[in-house]
Amino acid sequence: MKLLEGKIALITGASRGIGRGVAIKFAEQGANVAFTYLSSVEKGQELERELQAFGVKAKGYRSDAADFKAAEELVNSVVSDFGTVDILVNNAGITRDALLMRMSEQQWDEVINANLKSVFNLTKAVQKPMLKQRKGSIINMSSVVGVKGNAGQSNYAASKAGIIGFTKSVALELGSRNIRSNVIAPGFIETEMTAALDAKVVEGWRENIPLKRGGTPEDIANATIFLASDMSAYITGQVINVCGGMLT
Ligand code: NAP
Repeated sequence: MKLLEGKIALITGASRGIGRGVAIKFAEQGANVAFTYLSSVEKGQELERELQAFGVKAKGYRSDAADFKAAEELVNSVVSDFGTVDILVNNAGITRDALLMRMSEQQWDEVINANLKSVFNLTKAVQKPMLKQRKGSIINMSSVVGVKGNAGQSNYAASKAGIIGFTKSVALELGSRNIRSNVIAPGFIETEMTAALDAKVVEGWRENIPLKRGGTPEDIANATIFLASDMSAYITGQVINVCGGMLT
């Protein structure tokens, strides 16, 4: 029996990296997958075909998670195409790194809107179908940086810490309706987002991780499957650090 057989999942930002890894693993576990991207149209179309090869229903939508109205329209389209939403994975995210001294208002606003406001937008929009069916699992992608802070990433850390407070509040509000809300805090996961970093810095990070390697999108996808599935039916309002022991 597959862990997500017949469930309907909506994953934001799945054209690359962690989101893409989650989408593939979800399809492998029998989920029907609706996913979004912002600019990677070709990659989105490619993923749609890749997911359909697992024999599940899959559809990509070009939608800006930071746009409140677009999120509402997206969820309406997904409900009309798939029937409902059982699982929401708020994964879309960006970085605009700078020391506070040099950080512009635009860098602050872009990160808060793409990383934190997006989580509000999508969660608010899926509330309706989830309340209607009296079940749902919401999984929000934060970061170890949201738990402990990071020099040069005050905007990103604030957005990721905000996700944790938001998730816990939603868990308290919607628990009685059997809607769960949890956070995954990835450590250093090797994707395009981290490929932009200096090679020496990356080597240093790998060395400091107890498991002695950067994580893969599959490492995050496995934890996401657990939180999406009924295996975690009694878990809500929690933060799971998937970081190779980095925060230990
Ligand atoms: P990535 O490789 O840069 O991919 C980001 C994805 O998000 C892309 O699919 C991108 O779509 C999409 N996206 C960005 N802004 C969007 C928006 N406004 N609306 C819709 N989609 C949007 O990033 P990643 O490394 O996989 O990271 C995924 C998540 O994990 C992020 O929330 C990130 O903060 C978090 N995380 C990553 C790490 C890490 O080490 N990689 C660590 C901790 C947390 P397009 O391709 O169309 O632009």
